Amino acid sequence: MALVGTEQPRAVLLSGPDVGELEQEYVLAALRSGWVAPAGPDLDRFEEEIAQRAGVPHAVAVNSGTAALHLALEGVGAGPGDVVVVPTLTFAATANAVLYTGAVPVFADCDPATGNLDAELLSGLLATLDAEGARVRAVVTVDLYGSCADYRRILPVCERYGVPVVEDAAESLGAARDGRPAGSFGRAAAFSFNGNKIMTTSGGGMLVTADTGLADRARYLAGQARLPAEHYEHAEVGYNYRLSNVLAALGRAQLCRLDAMIERRRAVRAAYREIFAPVDGVRLLAGDDPAGNCWLTGIVADPERTGWRARELAVHLRARQVETRPLFKPMHLQPLFAGARSALTGAAERLFANGLVLPGGSALDDDQVGRVVDGLTGFLDGRR
Ligand SMILES: *Cc1c(COP(=O)(O)O)cnc(C)c1O
Repeated sequence: MALVGTEQPRAVLLSGPDVGELEQEYVLAALRSGWVAPAGPDLDRFEEEIAQRAGVPHAVAVNSGTAALHLALEGVGAGPGDVVVVPTLTFAATANAVLYTGAVPVFADCDPATGNLDAELLSGLLATLDAEGARVRAVVTVDLYGSCADYRRILPVCERYGVPVVEDAAESLGAARDGRPAGSFGRAAAFSFNGNKIMTTSGGGMLVTADTGLADRARYLAGQARLPAEHYEHAEVGYNYRLSNVLAALGRAQLCRLDAMIERRRAVRAAYREIFAPVDGVRLLAGDDPAGNCWLTGIVADPERTGWRARELAVHLRARQVETRPLFKPMHLQPLFAGARSALTGAAERLFANGLVLPGGSALDDDQVGRVVDGLTGFLDGRR
């Protein structure tokens, strides 16, 4: 409750939604059209538009990125008795989707430069699992914080063992690598349109794939696995995963603005880059990636060289109403996955200890970015 004369400046959020008049127009038009069910022209168009953006022929709109991942894993046949390799440095949804199928996740560590799956470690892990006769049904890659994984090295490794890649592209819509768009690398990929992602449908996701059979089956399972008949006919367990046409309309408006929103995030990241460039011991996570979507900017501070810890910077910024967050806590450290098999180098644990995610939302205005910049320079000046 703000008292007169003590008005607080608006908190600077990590990644708030960025919606305006265009979104209102699209949503209102969808409501007025009467298509308020999980079917309708906006849903069809949204699927076509996202498929085109990802450079793949098929897209199935669903009500979360987690649902898209679940369907992708179902689509490559993951089930009880199977193993799925998952990066340890990710959001829990990546690993939870594996559990939904009845398969067991095996965690693999990351490349310290990017936080993405360590291709060399993966190669050794797949060789070991292969020698043991494990049924490895998929390797899930995560395009962390909007930077695509190193597919040039990962894809041949997976091919060698005949293991399909499922791309968790929840954070990377609009990013690219080696001239290919995020979402085009795996047998199937999942985008998220959660409220904090690069674009939002308030909640939603999309499965994209070049595999027609996989797309058809995902669409069928997402619609309660209803078989074609006049009555309700079901032969297997389905899910209520489809996206509403109204939310697809919101997504279409956001997609019109995606490139502009990415540009804004790039500009925010560039401001942080400039501040930290002269600071010994601080680097940007995936700082060399020219084609990331800059969803969020993570910094990594080596306390041996900086003389301060990332958590101290977080405290300093919080006092100025600036939200930050540690990098993802690795899955192998989560109570949920205690005892899970993991191939570790220590890279993810070090990133968790020394990393910090800074506000990067495209809705940040110049004043808010200025407040973060002032907070950062004030902190650094005090530590010199
Ligand atoms: C957000 C996210 C998800 C889940 O997407 P939802 O739409 O929230 O279900 C999965 N994986 C990663 C890496 C994410 O960041």
